[in-house]
Amino acid sequence: MNYKKLADLLFPDITKTLDYYEKTVFPNRDLSEEAKVTRLAPSPTGFIHLGNLYGAFVDERLAHQSKGIFILRIEDTDEKRKVEGAVKTIITSLAYFDLKFDEGASINGELGDYGPYFQSNRKVIYQTVAKYLVEIGRAYPCFCTEEELGEIRKQQAAANVNTGYYGKWARDRSLSLDEVQINLKNNKSFVLRLKSIGDQETTFEINDAIRGSLSLPVNYQDVVILKANGIPTYHFAHVVDDHLMRVTHVVRGEEWLSTLPIHFEIFKTLDWELPVYCHTAHLMKIDNEVKRKLSKRKDPELGLEYYMKLGYHPVAVREYLLTILNSNFEEWRNENSDSSTDDFQFALNKMSNSGALFDLNKLNDISKNVLLKIPVEEIYDFLLRWAKDYKEEIVNSLIHHKDAVLKLLSIGRDSAKPRKDLIYCEQIFGFISYFFDDYFKVVDKYPENIEYTEAKKLLEAYLETYDHSDNQSQWFDKIRVIATKNGYAAKPKDFKKNPEIYKGDVGNVSTVIRIAIVGRSSSPDLWELQQIMGEEKIRKRIQSLITLN
Ligand code: GLU
Repeated sequence: MNYKKLADLLFPDITKTLDYYEKTVFPNRDLSEEAKVTRLAPSPTGFIHLGNLYGAFVDERLAHQSKGIFILRIEDTDEKRKVEGAVKTIITSLAYFDLKFDEGASINGELGDYGPYFQSNRKVIYQTVAKYLVEIGRAYPCFCTEEELGEIRKQQAAANVNTGYYGKWARDRSLSLDEVQINLKNNKSFVLRLKSIGDQETTFEINDAIRGSLSLPVNYQDVVILKANGIPTYHFAHVVDDHLMRVTHVVRGEEWLSTLPIHFEIFKTLDWELPVYCHTAHLMKIDNEVKRKLSKRKDPELGLEYYMKLGYHPVAVREYLLTILNSNFEEWRNENSDSSTDDFQFALNKMSNSGALFDLNKLNDISKNVLLKIPVEEIYDFLLRWAKDYKEEIVNSLIHHKDAVLKLLSIGRDSAKPRKDLIYCEQIFGFISYFFDDYFKVVDKYPENIEYTEAKKLLEAYLETYDHSDNQSQWFDKIRVIATKNGYAAKPKDFKKNPEIYKGDVGNVSTVIRIAIVGRSSSPDLWELQQIMGEEKIRKRIQSLITLN
């Protein structure tokens, strides 16, 4: 067979050589030995998820920790899965989490010298490599129709052998140049297949940076590398792009492990150096005491939108992901409580290979601690930015009452045992919403021992003696007086000693007042809140509960 002729026949429009791309267009990068080049390669399906982000943090750390390059490549070869606006969603979501790419797709177009970074624009590159494979006799056109392939499968099932296109079953492996020419003349469509040299007995060793040494069966199938429309399959595009973009570390989900033998064979066939593979474990959660994979259908928290809509701070998410990414991160954090996460030495061999457990409660706990370290002015700016994107109706209130909001967010942060009330924007707004008349709601009930008429009496007494200029102890003394006058113990311990002679204690009285003012039975220091809210609001709130029937 004259492979050169076959190659020209199949790819008459491909005039450049692989050598040209290798040497002239995508030469080796001028980076230090240690520098790692990584890429995130999402498909624009409209759904960007935690798994993407999880991998992206690995990519980002590997690249930036080693002064390397982090690329965003858009894998948009599957027309059927493409969704309008999905690329923008990918870019803005990753930007939300503060991931900084050095190359690739960006909101301002493509950056970098190793593009195009959209696979759909790299057709000629894939075809050049494909043509080369034909020339060296390691790829060939296959004209089989779906029916014919079905027929082969049937025969294989009857013969009790593995199904697929391989060995003697690979019908078009041995087509002559004339036969190919006739098929082409008849406009028969074809795919391009790799001519595998593997068999079903051999295995190979490969070192995965997360999983260690793996022994896998070699590929023996003549897999499709170019589809009938000339677009590459994932397997082929992965090899070509990661080689020509000079990617050193391929971080991807463990679902790709099963097809690694294909990628291995293509790399070897082209005599290209393999990247270091890093197959990350699935994200799992505990559901009804059972550990299972996070699912798109069942778990809204799998989508990144979930965190953006709720307004999680990117630093909190980053901090949390690092705790599940690297087993020694928490220990490091305990010893370096004020350091930036970037100072942590991220290591691939500290990653779990048996499923990373994702736990929203833990994220929330971490978020509380992280937000405590962020100055309130920054939290305010973040809250405002979030509101502009996700809760427009509160933007004006936040701007108007900036001072009050800053004070509300600050309460109890500086004490020895600081309050940790803030988790994510939606919750933060809920937490301070009592300040805004439009959002104020009485959500908690009065204590059990207090009827509505009794509460009313207490609130009337409160209003009568309320003086906005009282300091904290004067204010509380007055509440004690109201308590004793109405049959409540001035101190909880007095009530405990003699419960039969009291209706309750001073705590019940202040709870009634708290509910009237903030709508809840627990809140930061009430006196401080009143000072921030202002006299008028306090009187109005109390009054409206008194007059409520
Ligand atoms: N486009 C593939 C995906 O979204 C990329 C896998 C890879 O990183 O190689 O799963």
